[in-house]
Amino acid sequence: MPWFGMDIGGTLCKLVYFEPRDIAQGESEEIEILKNIRKYLTKNSSYGKTGHRDTHLQMDNVVLRGVVGSIHFIRFPTSQMKRFLTLANQKGMAKLVTTVCATGGGAYKFEDDFNKHVNMNLEKCDEFESLLKGLLYIDKNNLTECYYWTNPTDETKCAKVNYDFSKPYPFLLVNIGSGVSILAVHSPTDYKRVSGTSLGGGTFLGLCCLLTGCNTFEEAIGLAAEGDHTNVDKLVRDIYGGDYAKFGLPGDLVASSFGQMNSRDRRSKVKRQDLARATLVTITNNIGSIARMCAIQQNVDRVVFVGNFLRVNPIAMKLLAYAMEYWSNGSMKALFLEHEGYFGAVGCLLQFHG
Ligand code: ADP
Repeated sequence: MPWFGMDIGGTLCKLVYFEPRDIAQGESEEIEILKNIRKYLTKNSSYGKTGHRDTHLQMDNVVLRGVVGSIHFIRFPTSQMKRFLTLANQKGMAKLVTTVCATGGGAYKFEDDFNKHVNMNLEKCDEFESLLKGLLYIDKNNLTECYYWTNPTDETKCAKVNYDFSKPYPFLLVNIGSGVSILAVHSPTDYKRVSGTSLGGGTFLGLCCLLTGCNTFEEAIGLAAEGDHTNVDKLVRDIYGGDYAKFGLPGDLVASSFGQMNSRDRRSKVKRQDLARATLVTITNNIGSIARMCAIQQNVDRVVFVGNFLRVNPIAMKLLAYAMEYWSNGSMKALFLEHEGYFGAVGCLLQFHG
């Protein structure tokens, strides 16, 4: 029985595979198939055209339900689910009677396909329970999992600093996937979804594709890295000529996101890079602002941001770090985790009772 956990999201499917250190013995056909699957997954780091294994995230010598092994982290676009199932079939999965724990909306949407094409039963796990279980497990098993950004606005001094998250409660958990969910967490079993917004990672990518003609998340982030949002947004200083000192609003604060784009002249001069950056800043600051209000309402000062929107996205992380600290006068902290988008899938794997 291969050990998989799956989180089938609105944009990406996250698949984690636990590879036991000791190879099963025996001659049966089932064990041969298992060995082939293991070989295929662990010898490659890309699968088909769109599947990737995040080798830098691999965790070795971890103990899962009493067994020592490695956890591998794989992702592919949810839109490629049919191809994934075909591939899984080719690798002999349909010959094994298997149950896989799955979470995310796709665990419901694709349930029949899994049954039909790979003879697999999906044991559905709750999304938030899995997210939290996975997060706590990975943090416990990886000393450098949790970190924050120091001096987020100063490129020369800015650095990632390790954070001891061994006494985490209470904290706010902000999951930035296609959309955003915000949970207030008081203990491993005491948590609730307190808010959310549909303006999330999917919105950033969708708008960016529309505005710049880009086609991938990596491309969108690459453009944003080279852009200047102040050519797109209207700042406090564009309106006041400087700071709005009476209410402590600095001149370089965005007063109106995309507020310059009503001018034909400005539109004719704006670059794709600027539009990508402004989209990233708009979406990120909006999430930061909602997160901060939730943290005040819930009376918590640590806010943990996760989800694949933060993948290869230091610009967004630093914006969040700055926003949380600045607007709370230093009383709130934005925290980040290395395995950003994989906690739901790991949480599923932990709940599997093969
Ligand atoms: P979901 O479970 O809703 O799919 P994720 O946590 O996987 O959510 O995050 C999806 C978001 O991550 C996308 O909307 C996009 O902003 C970002 N992202 C990061 N890497 C990719 C990628 N390779 N392809 C598409 N989106 C990506």
